[in-house]
Amino acid sequence: EAPSEPRSGRSAALRARMEERLLGARFRYLNQQLYTGTSRDAARLFRADPAAFHLYHRGFERQVRRWPERPVQRIVRYLRRRPASLVVADFGCGDCTLAASVKNRVHCFDLVPLSPRVTVCDMAKVPLAAESVDVAVFCLALMGTNLQEILGEANRVLKLGGTLLVAEVASRFEDIRAFLKAMTQLGFKTVSKDLSSSYFYVLEFAKTGPARPGAAPGLRLRPCLYKRR
Ligand code: SAH
Repeated sequence: EAPSEPRSGRSAALRARMEERLLGARFRYLNQQLYTGTSRDAARLFRADPAAFHLYHRGFERQVRRWPERPVQRIVRYLRRRPASLVVADFGCGDCTLAASVKNRVHCFDLVPLSPRVTVCDMAKVPLAAESVDVAVFCLALMGTNLQEILGEANRVLKLGGTLLVAEVASRFEDIRAFLKAMTQLGFKTVSKDLSSSYFYVLEFAKTGPARPGAAPGLRLRPCLYKRR
């Protein structure tokens, strides 16, 4: 009976493995594009090819599942300790885990809607009034090369004294002191920094005022390039 079954089983497994590899390769390619271009390039890329976005997200999910803790859970814990009346903006919200996990009003911004809560836009230009939010979040989302512009946008929408939370892959920070110094130029003072995880850092800032004009050369992050596995 069905002597070909073991063979077809083998070829299905082989095929699945090949598909995995291809998906992995495409994910790494897309990921590299996101980290080496501006946020506008990313917006253009995903607008032209929404399927690429979904593929990217599958790859992203696979990566963070390997980590001992999801950075977004740290942001959730932070917000639960503070008043639920605080208005939050989640820059690069992905699947809106944050909004779904807290009572706060959360404005969710991303390039393609993985959830109906998402407002589709480039994070360098979000449709919020100046000084309208209490907490701005970038959870693994500082991807574009135009970091100054992106963080300037967070500064614009934050109220004075408002909180900026950044969770980012540890290996992206070449010089954390230079980065924090650049943040002061952008109008943010460091409130706390948790550098204890070897996977990701969690940084908390408070808005001290508008960004000072001029370049902030220390504001550089290495691209986060995943290895082939
Ligand atoms: N914050 C989520 C998702 C992180 S993945 C979490 O922690 O689970 C990074 C997210 O940033 C992706 O969903 C990606 O689409 C989004 N992103 C990248 N560039 C963007 C841009 N220019 N504007 C808006 N979102 C962007």
